[in-house]
Amino acid sequence: MAAASTGKISRKFAVPLLSAGLLLGSPLLAQVAATASAPRPDPWPGFKKVLAIGETSTAFQHDSISHALATIERLGRESGLYMTIIRTDTQLVTKAPVRNGETPVLNAKNLDFFDAIFFFGAGPGTLDEQQMADLLSFVRDDGKGFVAAHTGVNAFQGHPGYRDMIGGLWDHPWTKAERLEVDLPIVVEDPRFPAMQGLPAAFSVHDEAAVHQAPYSRDNVRVLASVDLDQLDPELGRSPATDRDVPIAWAREYGKGRVFYSVLGHSDQSWDNPLVQQLFLNALRWSLGLVEGDATPLGEPAGR
Ligand SMILES: [Zn+2]
Repeated sequence: MAAASTGKISRKFAVPLLSAGLLLGSPLLAQVAATASAPRPDPWPGFKKVLAIGETSTAFQHDSISHALATIERLGRESGLYMTIIRTDTQLVTKAPVRNGETPVLNAKNLDFFDAIFFFGAGPGTLDEQQMADLLSFVRDDGKGFVAAHTGVNAFQGHPGYRDMIGGLWDHPWTKAERLEVDLPIVVEDPRFPAMQGLPAAFSVHDEAAVHQAPYSRDNVRVLASVDLDQLDPELGRSPATDRDVPIAWAREYGKGRVFYSVLGHSDQSWDNPLVQQLFLNALRWSLGLVEGDATPLGEPAGR
C-alpha cells in the first residue's frame, strides 16, 4: 500500500518537477522569464505623462466622455507637453504593482509612472480605500497634478478625502432639468492665472453649469471663472434667488500638488470649442508643474 502510494505521487509530480528543472537549468528560458517581468523602458522619454480616466460604471454616463478623453490625448501630442494613457477603469490608480489576482499584469503602469491625472467620472466609483489613499498621496505627497472635468467633482462621494482634495461637491445643475445645456455667459475672474491665459475676458460656451456645496467656498478654492448671471435669463435657473454663485473653474493647492476643476464638459460640442480646449490644456500645463501660478483663494469678490 505504501509502495503503491509512493509510486502514484512520483508519477503525479514527475512532469512539473521536470519542467521546473528544465526552467532552472535553461539559460534561455530563464532569460525569457526575467525579460517578461522586467520593467519596460519608458515609451515616451522626455514627456510628462497623463493618466486620463473616464470612470462611469456607477453613475450617469455622459455621451461626451469618449470625445473628452480623445481630445485630452490629442492636445497633449499636438502641444508636445505630455503623453496620455486613456483608461475607463481605475486599475492603474495604485502605488502597488498592478496585479490580476495574484498574477502580475505585464507592462502595466501604476501611479508612479504618471505626472497628472485627468478625470471625468461620476458617482461612488470603484476605488477601494487603499486606492483612494494612493490617489490622494499621489497629489498631496508626490506633488502631482489632478484635473477634473464636469462631474469629476461629483465622484467618490463616500470618500471625504477626495472632497477635501477637489474642493467641492456638485449640488445640482443651475439650469432646469428639461434644459440642462444653455449658452453660458462666462466671465474670467482671474486672467493672470495660467489656466486662463489666452482666453477672452468674457466668452460663451454651450454647456451645463452647476451649483456646488461644501466644501466649496471661495475661501477654500481660487475661483478663476464663473457664469455671469446678469447675462442669463433667470427663468432658466432652478432657484435663481439663492444660486448666485456658479463657478466655471477653480484651482487649489493640495499639499505639494495642484488641483484644477472645471464644470465644463457636459456636451460633446464643448470639447470641440477651442476655448474649452485651451482651458484644459492650460490647466494641465499648470498641474504638471510646467508653469507657475498662485492658487491662493481670493475670497468673495467685492460688491457681491
Ligand atoms: Zn452633465
